[in-house]
Amino acid sequence: MTPASFDHHAPRTIDEALGLLAQAGGDARILAGGQSLVPAMAFRLAQPSVLVDINRLTDAPGLVEESDRLEIGPLVRHETLRRMPSRTPLGEVLAHLADHIGTWPVRTRGTFCGSLAHADPASEWGLAVVALDANLTLESASDGPRSVPASEFFAGMQMTAAREEEMLTAVTIPALPATARWGFAEFGRRTGDFATVLALVVHELKGGRMTGVRIAVGGVEDVPRRLGPAEEALEGAAPSKVRFEQAAEIASEIVEPLEDPLSDALHRRELVREMVLRALQRSTR
Ligand SMILES: Cc1cc2nc3c(=O)[nH]c(=O)nc-3n(C[C@H](O)[C@H](O)[C@H](O)COP(=O)(O)OP(=O)(O)OC[C@H]3O[C@@H](n4cnc5c(N)ncnc54)[C@H](O)[C@@H]3O)c2cc1C
Repeated sequence: MTPASFDHHAPRTIDEALGLLAQAGGDARILAGGQSLVPAMAFRLAQPSVLVDINRLTDAPGLVEESDRLEIGPLVRHETLRRMPSRTPLGEVLAHLADHIGTWPVRTRGTFCGSLAHADPASEWGLAVVALDANLTLESASDGPRSVPASEFFAGMQMTAAREEEMLTAVTIPALPATARWGFAEFGRRTGDFATVLALVVHELKGGRMTGVRIAVGGVEDVPRRLGPAEEALEGAAPSKVRFEQAAEIASEIVEPLEDPLSDALHRRELVREMVLRALQRSTR
């Protein structure tokens, strides 16, 4: 398989990259880790005439952890997050999720922002930014930067709120309190593949009761999302097997699962129940 021909540009600055995207008028694609785009080009599912390769940018933000937030720039690879030295709850969540992404070559090349821009509903990072209330910075030559909450970024299967001439230049995730608890579970058919269904739970235990409960699932519908009614069922409650089972049941009832040849709606619904239950159980260990 060979891709259609294209012009390759390797800008040194974000401004230069944004200028190239504007000039190409929708016919350009950003090349980050290439782990999704290159196969799509090889199969001619994507045929951009211009590739804006951002790997040589010298002014792109990297990975910056402040006391109240984590900022992730456009060239931060999955593996960098997997090896994060941070022992904060947020650092632990991201390192754990990164460990579930693909295989070593995918993790060392693929980027956090590229994964979000690609918008596969079963991606670990899509689930993370929705569950962790992240903000995404999109930037274009004509309009400068704008901020989009993760809950508004995903618009459908491999569709986002980003315009063609925009680049995702940073993602900001608020820090989790030191007392935060979290649990993650995913079901996949083979190690290294995208998951079929994945769930992330975050909350705090105060006086033996759960507060700030967040439950998000991915791989179920065409975008990852939080499940408000399941969260509400646990808010203020003491963690217990019965409560967890009730919340997992609610979660499985309110989703509208996708179907594919390997997993029909009923199977995905069952997986939602089981993954949410496991994530809840893991959050209180
Ligand atoms: C075998 C295999 C297994 C995988 N398993 C998993 C998995 O288990 N979980 C998972 O989440 N992912 C998985 N992936 C996907 C992987 O995480 C990719 O790295 C990711 O989806 C895309 O990131 P990238 O940096 O490679 O982006 P690229 O492939 O370079 O680009 C992908 C898309 O995003 C756009 N883009 C890239 N960066 C930006 C930016 N900064 N601003 C705007 N647009 C941008 C590109 O133009 C393109 O449209 C797997 C991939 C492979 C090949």
